[in-house]
This record gives sequence, C-alpha cells and structure tokens, in this order.
Amino acid sequence: MTRVLVVEDDPQLVRALVINLKARTFDVDAATDGASALRIAGESTPDAVLLDLGLPDMDGIDVLHALRVWTQVPVLVVSARRTSEEKVAALDAGADDYITKPFSMDELLARLRAATRRTAAAVPGEGSLTVRTEDFTIDLLAKKVQRQGRDVRLTPTEWHLLEVLIRNRGRLVGQKQLLQEVWGPAYGTQTNYLRVYMAQLRRKLESDPSHPRHLITAPGMGYRFEG
Ligand code: CA
Repeated sequence: MTRVLVVEDDPQLVRALVINLKARTFDVDAATDGASALRIAGESTPDAVLLDLGLPDMDGIDVLHALRVWTQVPVLVVSARRTSEEKVAALDAGADDYITKPFSMDELLARLRAATRRTAAAVPGEGSLTVRTEDFTIDLLAKKVQRQGRDVRLTPTEWHLLEVLIRNRGRLVGQKQLLQEVWGPAYGTQTNYLRVYMAQLRRKLESDPSHPRHLITAPGMGYRFEG
C-alpha cells in the first residue's frame, strides 16, 4: 500500500485530503507543522509527501531541504504561492511537482499517482533487490557485494555512496546531493571526498578502474551508476 504524508496546517484541507486519499486506498499520515512532518517522515518512511509551504513553525522549503538530506521520497508541493520564482525555488530545492491552491482533487490524485509510479519504476521492488552487472552483483537487502564469486568488503561510507548511486541508477546524481546524503548537510562542497571514495569503489568493483563502465563521472557535475 502507498503511504502518503500530508503536511498541511489548514484543518479543513487536511480532512478533505485524508478522506480522499483513504478512499483511494492510500495509507495517510498528517502533520500540521514542519517539525512534526520531519519526525513522522523519519518514523513512517512515506512513499510520497504532499507539502504545504506556509506552515506555522517553518517554511515548507526548509522542510523540503531537511527531507532531501536523507530521502528521495517524491514531494509534491501544494501551495497558494503561485509566482514562477516560488515554483522554481521549490523545484530547485528538490520538489518533484508543484500544485497551486485551489486545486482539483482529481488532478492532485493523478499527479500523486504519477509521482509514485516514477519511484516504483526507479527503485527495485521487493524480490528484485539485487543489481547485477557483468562485473559484480550487489544485494541491497543483505548489503553484500560479490565480484567474480568473491565477497567484496565495503566500508559503511563506500556502501552508502554506492547505494545512493544505485537508487538513482542511470541518472546523474549531483556532487552536492551525494555529499549531503552520504556525509551530511555541512559537507556539500567537499568534492575531494567524492574523488577519493569513488576511486576506492572503482578499485573494488570495476574490472578496469581507470576506464570505469559502471561508476561514471560527469566532470564538474556528479556521478552516475550504469548497471
Ligand atoms: Ca498553510
């Protein structure tokens, strides 16, 4: 079942969203401020977040930044702010979609379905948590890597980095995003860490580390996993 976190401080709108989402068999959690939204997101790991920007305790954009440090969950901003600068700011902060209030419930539900379909397609589902390449096999559940039939030992940092790249398989992951997800919010500019750790991963996984086929560098931008 798809679990949705509704972050909204207008009680009537929360009620309407909860009723409509439950009627379409979504599981729903609701938070009426930013702090509880972040707490609930950490506890219940939702499959999608509907995020209001005008919250009583903090700006929704800051909630989005805090979420993006550790999760790529689809976030649909639902806001009365309608200038294109405000939309661009939300999308730049990592929102997957932007819906202006007032909205039609059908449209919101369609966009929510589209966002959750995208992640279902991108993230290997249960039962397919193994990524195989011609050079190595990664079992995401057991956190094991094998190369030519032998276990490869990764440090927790190497593993975390690899996991973020695999989660975004085939897509470029920016340097800043990688650094913040793996090392934390304060490390967004330490690109030398990435060079060091990517070199280690390549030595452990690639058959020709100087000509990587799976752990690809986009110079000055970031890295991509090709499997
Ligand atoms: Ca509000």
